Amino acid sequence: MTALYHCPACGANPPADRPVWRCACGSHLNLMPGDGLTRGDIDAAEASLWRYRAALALGRPPRVSLGEGWTPLVERDWAGAQVRFKLESQMPTGSFKDRGTAVMLNHLIEVGVGPIHEDSSGNAGSSIATYAASAGLPCRIYVPATAPRGKIVQIAASGAEVCVIPGTREAVTEAALAALGTSFYASHNWQPFFIEGTKTLAYELWEQLGFRVPDNILVPTGYGSNILGLDRGFDELARHGEITRRPRLFAVQAANCAAFAAAWNNLPFASGATIADGIATVKPVRATEVLAALRRSRGGVVAVPEAEIAPALRTLGRLGLFVEPTAATAGAALSQLFHDGTIRPDETTIAVLTGHGLKATDKIAELLAI
Ligand SMILES: [Zn+2]
Repeated sequence: MTALYHCPACGANPPADRPVWRCACGSHLNLMPGDGLTRGDIDAAEASLWRYRAALALGRPPRVSLGEGWTPLVERDWAGAQVRFKLESQMPTGSFKDRGTAVMLNHLIEVGVGPIHEDSSGNAGSSIATYAASAGLPCRIYVPATAPRGKIVQIAASGAEVCVIPGTREAVTEAALAALGTSFYASHNWQPFFIEGTKTLAYELWEQLGFRVPDNILVPTGYGSNILGLDRGFDELARHGEITRRPRLFAVQAANCAAFAAAWNNLPFASGATIADGIATVKPVRATEVLAALRRSRGGVVAVPEAEIAPALRTLGRLGLFVEPTAATAGAALSQLFHDGTIRPDETTIAVLTGHGLKATDKIAELLAI
């Protein structure tokens, strides 16, 4: 059965039977609520996110996979408490984006996509370029000139065309929009099948904790695809009666560029520079949905001061968790939430480490004065 989109602006429900990135009215589209699965539907022989294929809105088995998902969940001491770190940094391309990319590209291939392009601060670009290469799809990625060199090299090595755009992150998006007539805009920030992929993070945490939900999940957040994916996944599990409560979701932002923190606290938003390049988002596409998901979970938004990112990165590194500065914000947020009593040491807390340190060795060297 063909999945249906839902447009939150005009209420249209177009079928997901062709490559589209937004509604005819100009709004973003979402997928209708999914059927989800019960624990008996899990394909335990599959050591990847495809173990949850029964819950995915795809018509056919995947054509392209690099074994994404089923990432390690490791426990470490943080400020005297036991915290579980979800190593999304160990995905095939070194970031959490591969969950969304794998599902989105398999959908787009199913509905007959041709050449694609995308704009990205780096990680989504590397992910989409890599999966496009695996699928044999021509691909062009627009990146900001300030993106870490490791990410740009990764995109180029996959054979994708790299277009480096000077100026702001918004200028990069504008360049991608200007190319609309030339190839399909496979935007991870717009296309809702990306969130269909990130929802497997909820299933995976639930299964890895012995079919229990944690109390708190902290996620470095730019556009919010992991927050929306977690909300969607836990919602499906709750509707099946597999879980009876929901974890609190905390979106972690860099205080220098914190659109969600501003909206959460009803403060004006001003964007500045941050070393956490992966979450420096000025205009998140699904801002309303992300804020609603955070509210529904009784979680919140944590804004991390710039000066706390380097110490968190150093501490994580000494725990054997080598991550990029964007991911290190999760460590800084842990300290903040423990310190102010929002989360307690006896609760089950997950910190999602979204990207690998090898992505950004130039910036890390600068940050740690190596
Ligand atoms: Zn619409």
